[in-house]
Amino acid sequence: MTPLLQLRDIHAAYDEIEVLHGIDLTIAPGEVVAALGPNGAGKTTLMRVISGELEPTRGDLLVGGRRMNGAAASDLARAGLCTIPEGRGVFPNLTVRENLWMMTHRGMSRSAIEEAAYSYFPRLEDRRTQTAGTMSGGEQQMLAVARAVSTRPSLLLLDELSMGLAPLVVNELLTAVGKLADTGVAILIVEQFAEAVLKFADHAVIISHGRVTASGTSALIREELRNAYLGTA
Ligand code: ATP
Repeated sequence: MTPLLQLRDIHAAYDEIEVLHGIDLTIAPGEVVAALGPNGAGKTTLMRVISGELEPTRGDLLVGGRRMNGAAASDLARAGLCTIPEGRGVFPNLTVRENLWMMTHRGMSRSAIEEAAYSYFPRLEDRRTQTAGTMSGGEQQMLAVARAVSTRPSLLLLDELSMGLAPLVVNELLTAVGKLADTGVAILIVEQFAEAVLKFADHAVIISHGRVTASGTSALIREELRNAYLGTA
């Protein structure tokens, strides 16, 4: 099976200063991968490389088997990539339904988009006429994920999905993400060290100082993190 995302020896820099020093990462269809690491490790830079905002200085970015180094964000979107940035990207002055309706340019009807969104997040149906900006942070994040679903992505990037949210809400979001993966979507979740994400991810990598310092099943990475916290690693 062709991986939906493959990074081979990715290097990236701001001006002359290199901050990613050779990242390798592969995500298959239907797989959820977590990229974890402390502040300043290079996670956001990695997301920017994958979403076409920052061209790698070395290495290969492959989406669906095609080399996409330097491709425009619009070409990456056409290849099936959808990014939910940190800070969510919903329109606060529009209602839930209006936020969803904006996605009809992708070819789905308003009612089909709403139906898909509410099947993942029933709570959004109750809120459909509410202005997005007046909802809780968790509900806004649900709306952002629901909007992404309507683009029928093959590869979804989630940046700091759980930031500032209560554990129960994070679980609800991750459950929906898992359902999405079950339909064959490949998902990369970038987070600081978030135990909750490991419960839902198949595979995880730890990024530190611009390098992958550990890679394995979520169970293995959880163990490594515990040992590191306990100072026994
Ligand atoms: P955080 O969780 O704080 O967002 P991160 O793991 O996402 O951290 P990055 O934001 O990718 O890390 O930062 C990696 C390194 O690149 C850091 O040393 C940071 O200071 C530097 N950096 C990030 N953005 C820029 C920029 N626009 N110009 C110059 N250096 C930058």
